[in-house]
Amino acid sequence: MITIYNARKIITMNPSRPVATHVAVREGRILGAGVLEELTGWGEHTLDDRFADKVLMPGLVEGHSHAMEGTFWRYVYCGYFDRLDPGGKQWAGAKSIDAVVTRLREAEAELASAEEPLAGWSLDAIYFGNQRVNRYDLDQVSETRPIGILNASGHILNVNSKALELAGLLRAGVNHSGIPLGSDGLPIGELKGPDAMTPVGVHVGFDRSLLACDEAGLRQFARLCVRRGVTTATDLANLLPDDAVEMMVRVTGEDSFPARIVSLRRLQNLSVPEIIERALELRAMSTDLLRLGIIKVVADGSIQGFSACIRWPGYYNGAANGLWYVPPEQLREIYRLALKKGVQIHTHTNGDEATELVLDCVEEALHGHPSPDHRFTLQHCQLADAAQFRRMKALGMCVNLFPNHHFYWGDQHRALTVGPERAERMNACATALATGVPLAIHSDAPVTPLGPFFTAWCAVNRKTASGATLGEHERIGVDDALRTITLGAAYTLKLDGEVGSIECGKQADFAVLEDDPTTIGGENLKDIGVWGTVQGGRIFAASEI
Ligand SMILES: [Zn+2]
Repeated sequence: MITIYNARKIITMNPSRPVATHVAVREGRILGAGVLEELTGWGEHTLDDRFADKVLMPGLVEGHSHAMEGTFWRYVYCGYFDRLDPGGKQWAGAKSIDAVVTRLREAEAELASAEEPLAGWSLDAIYFGNQRVNRYDLDQVSETRPIGILNASGHILNVNSKALELAGLLRAGVNHSGIPLGSDGLPIGELKGPDAMTPVGVHVGFDRSLLACDEAGLRQFARLCVRRGVTTATDLANLLPDDAVEMMVRVTGEDSFPARIVSLRRLQNLSVPEIIERALELRAMSTDLLRLGIIKVVADGSIQGFSACIRWPGYYNGAANGLWYVPPEQLREIYRLALKKGVQIHTHTNGDEATELVLDCVEEALHGHPSPDHRFTLQHCQLADAAQFRRMKALGMCVNLFPNHHFYWGDQHRALTVGPERAERMNACATALATGVPLAIHSDAPVTPLGPFFTAWCAVNRKTASGATLGEHERIGVDDALRTITLGAAYTLKLDGEVGSIECGKQADFAVLEDDPTTIGGENLKDIGVWGTVQGGRIFAASEI
């Protein structure tokens, strides 16, 4: 059965035929994109004009997100910026500690029992003039139920007195670097790092399973994908135990599930030889809508948390250098074995010292196992300089940069973390393209909201939250930005032969748009209306998802 759709415009991303008026679909795949007369040559067909006033693009590809964005929405949103939830509701940002408290009170009023915990997420005290949220703030919401709010970075948990009490921490004599004390000698209710967070987190409703995504979370994540025009999304750091894989295969296999999920196994809890074996096993379990077998390695921390490893002369405000999340020797070992066994690795680096170490290790590994087209990808890689992009090119590496950071933390990077000059080269998209390094851009949802058009807007405009342009010379054009959120991201996942453009033989994955991103103007990219998606020929309207 062939369906031919007409549209106001079809932007194909196929360089041989960039624009079309019609696209023919059979069995979930594209027969061709062109004009009607050509496509009728495929045989008997139905003409479907439901998209006659829409613009079609290849389904967008989010190359670095986490499906736990879907899980977080069951907690109270406490972020500073407005944010769209999976049901389509736009949540206003909470602009002060008082606003956070008010929002928690509203949610509290709906809870049945007086002991039920209350949890929030996406708090970022950096926007409150660095005023800290402490247990007294949260005690205003309730003194009888445990309350906790996870920081936007995921590395800090703020809790009330009841939560501390339940964890046995509301006492004098607590001596832990991640648990700051007040003048009364008792913890102030801020917990930093997994060691300090976990024992209290379980009492407020956060447990370890939060970091994996569960079934309900995966479904919510997919709804968000439809609202943002995304048909292929990564879940970049999952531990992928057998029961999670079984659940993901089942859920993504349902007819009504609207997105392809690429889930990476994070290097943790397994030795290097074990994780390489596991990656091969996972690869064999892949289905059309669930792709497995890539490994994620986290080399260092975050720049705004001063835990990224950066080179001389270090942090602008003099903060101590960051830390290695994986020992350098283990990095060397994993690249060597992965190249030998043909397993792809994506590596998180933020600081330029971490990027340099990864480049050194990959270069050394390539001498042992020359591997054409390995597509090892640097994720974030925010602080790389031009020389490092040249090394990436020489080594055959890809990069997935994080332009959303300019908007959310650019002002802080300029003032505090890396200073004015290096802040302008952060997420150097123009340098990556000029050097010929295959480029993708990402949201790292839930760290920033899922939405490739917003990410493209960030790469094109490089505006910070205060309205400044940070790094004029690293801005890229709209056409390049649109390529990075389709073919660019698909390439880093070795999926560019299947998705990322609208052309004969590829998956019938489309973003269905109200506006034309090529004519709306770069400054308006973030406001493009998304009607929904077509995934493998199945139609998903955002209004009905
Ligand atoms: Zn991430």
